[in-house]
Amino acid sequence: MSDKGRVESPDTGGRLRRLRSLLEGHRIDAVLVTDIKNIRYLAGFTGSSAYLVVTVDTGYFITDSRYAGQAALEVKGFRIRQCRKALDLIKEIVASLKVKRLGFESNNLNYAAYLKVRKALKGVRLKPTPGLLTGLRAGKDRFEAQRIRDSARLLDSGYEKAEEFLRPGVAEKTAALEIETFLKRAGADAMAFDTIVASGLRSALPHGKASDKKIRKGELVVLDMGVCLNGYNSDETRTFGVGRPSLKLREIYDVVRGAQELAIEKVRPGVAAKEVDSAARARIEKKGYGGFFGHGTGHGVGLDVHEAPTIGPASRETLEEGMVITVEPGIYVPGLGGARIEDMALVVRGGCEILTRTPKDFLCL
Ligand code: ZN
Ligand code: ZN
Repeated sequence: MSDKGRVESPDTGGRLRRLRSLLEGHRIDAVLVTDIKNIRYLAGFTGSSAYLVVTVDTGYFITDSRYAGQAALEVKGFRIRQCRKALDLIKEIVASLKVKRLGFESNNLNYAAYLKVRKALKGVRLKPTPGLLTGLRAGKDRFEAQRIRDSARLLDSGYEKAEEFLRPGVAEKTAALEIETFLKRAGADAMAFDTIVASGLRSALPHGKASDKKIRKGELVVLDMGVCLNGYNSDETRTFGVGRPSLKLREIYDVVRGAQELAIEKVRPGVAAKEVDSAARARIEKKGYGGFFGHGTGHGVGLDVHEAPTIGPASRETLEEGMVITVEPGIYVPGLGGARIEDMALVVRGGCEILTRTPKDFLCL
């Protein structure tokens, strides 16, 4: 794909405007943002310690001396204040802005921290607003879509390379290390999560982190990994055969693949997230493996590797243009083995763009 129309910097101003437009509806005068990914999203700050106080017409960025220089370079649209004790400064700012109702990220601020905030901000009504930023971040802007596309492309190169390392006699951990080293050399900032290499009976563990077990002929190997590139995550799974797996294992693979295709066909704006899940689930049930698919079909991906929306039987979200979701059905039969196939899809007008491109024909290594 060409880089035409590439957006070089995040539109933090637009994101802030959208956040501000929500404050009144939540009946708050300001929001205290504590989730560091949300701070990156709103202010462009890539460090690891900061707070934001955002009202309809102003915004404060608070950090300590370690990050003052970095904040001056990165943060736009906020008054930058350096603190020794963040809470003292938050208290001072909240008082000067005459904030009476302050929203806070109840899905991020832990209970001990909440108690401290409550004590410091006596007289201010604290209102939990857990979904405020979650909802905003679910729909990616063009800058983000491009970053995620780049992350997925890098990840694909790791899958191409993986074929070299997933060999009979090689320990799962060794294979994971080789692939991860390749991806880091190729530019990944970090892996998005602990790489899953689950071979043989372990492939029936949906989250079988790479172990000391050696890969053997006749097994399925589930490789689920992701990279973080420029702050944006990717997430993909392929299941490979080693030697010649049994017909039963091969059947499991084919059912998962068919289910994933049906689910991907559903992805478009306006579709209920749970419909994507039920497309995959119905196929797996019909083939007699309904009891072996215990997790949801997917999740949003972005600054966090798991974020809104969730794609499962209980999902209440509706897909919108700009969302990036995974589609990852699986079958896990204890004592036998399992398979999962996962791709990332960007929801676009009329359908979706698949961001992960590693081929899915059953590949025997
Ligand atoms: Zn995954
Ligand atoms: Zn995933």
